[in-house]
Amino acid sequence: MPGFEMFGELEKAQVNDVLENGVLMRYGFDAMRNGHWKANQLEHELCKTLNVSYAQLVSSGTAAVTTALAVAGVGAGDEVIMPTFTFVASFEAVLMLGAVPVLVDIDDTLTLDPVAVENAITEKTKAVMVVQMCGSMGDMERLKTICTKHNLIFIEDACQAIGGSYKNKSLGTIADVGCFSFDYVKTITCGEGGAIVTNNKDYYIRADHFSDHGHDHIGKDRGAESHPFLGYNFRISELNAAVGLAQVKRLKEFIDIQKKNYSILRKELANVKDVTFRRVPEGGVESYAFLNFYLPNLDIARNVSQQFKANGIDACFHYFDNNWHYVRRWKHLKESKSLYPLSTEIRNTLSELNTRDFAQSDHFIGRNLSCLIKLTWTEDEAHQRAKKMREIIEKNL
Ligand SMILES: *Cc1c(COP(=O)(O)O)cnc(C)c1O
Repeated sequence: MPGFEMFGELEKAQVNDVLENGVLMRYGFDAMRNGHWKANQLEHELCKTLNVSYAQLVSSGTAAVTTALAVAGVGAGDEVIMPTFTFVASFEAVLMLGAVPVLVDIDDTLTLDPVAVENAITEKTKAVMVVQMCGSMGDMERLKTICTKHNLIFIEDACQAIGGSYKNKSLGTIADVGCFSFDYVKTITCGEGGAIVTNNKDYYIRADHFSDHGHDHIGKDRGAESHPFLGYNFRISELNAAVGLAQVKRLKEFIDIQKKNYSILRKELANVKDVTFRRVPEGGVESYAFLNFYLPNLDIARNVSQQFKANGIDACFHYFDNNWHYVRRWKHLKESKSLYPLSTEIRNTLSELNTRDFAQSDHFIGRNLSCLIKLTWTEDEAHQRAKKMREIIEKNL
């Protein structure tokens, strides 16, 4: 998945455009900037590439999720249903707005289980956040139907799945608001950056103002602009946007390479009895950022993971024992370890996590290995890696 593998002349040329006139800010300074509007241009490219009406760049994926929730009106005391398997950014964004993260089980797609979502709905539920983990997706039709039926906002975190699709729609563009990250390890990178995408014009206008202190961006005098509502500074710099502008044009090239390398690994592992693959919902096409497969039980998965590491098979994650992506090790969250006071309703909901039973999530995450697909492997290296992985797995079965 990492765009960082492919930093080159195109990226340098875009950054040099910005350095030549020194306008590092995305707004204003019209006379100095010599026609360079990198953030603007990247937003247009994202709309074109993903076939969506509006895109707003922000400073990170975490800022994107926060902005997505804010523009949909999620705030104090509102419950947001989210999965047990995601990056910590998901609950960070919810908490930042004073909303309450409600964690529910995942299923064999490694994303939200629609049944668990429906069971978790209360009169306080405001939104459902699906996280398209490791290059694939949730059951979007069933999740959307649940949101419509219960009048809930549907948020799509596609930070790890740019380039994937569901029923011919780009991931990130299916729910009410979608989020992307362009941090250094994502499929395309800005160094640091993120975006929200939507077909809802009101949401877009709110995102445009919210991510820049509430600025309404009307007229040519920034100091004289008004502020229709409160905002924050989640702006991206022109330097970061310039890197992203070069990368977004290479998205198809990156996805094609990922698909080729993914297919080599998958074909080899498909021959191994007792290896099964993550379920991709009907109509879904992965971004091929990761190959995810299941082993028969937790012990085998642990042993294989350790032996992969010892034998040079890097970047194959066993998320069950990982501090950042799975509820089991989110001790700081479960114990409400915050630098500042959290509301009583947040602390009560978080403390329940200590005794909640997530056996269904454990069943899938415990047996799952998730292997990052790199762009720089030669075909030979991919085949050798696949063979070695197969040998190690077969030895442990
Ligand atoms: C990377 C990531 C984020 C956060 O993105 P940053 O740009 O690092 O803040 C959010 N959600 C998911 C699923 C991610 O993988």
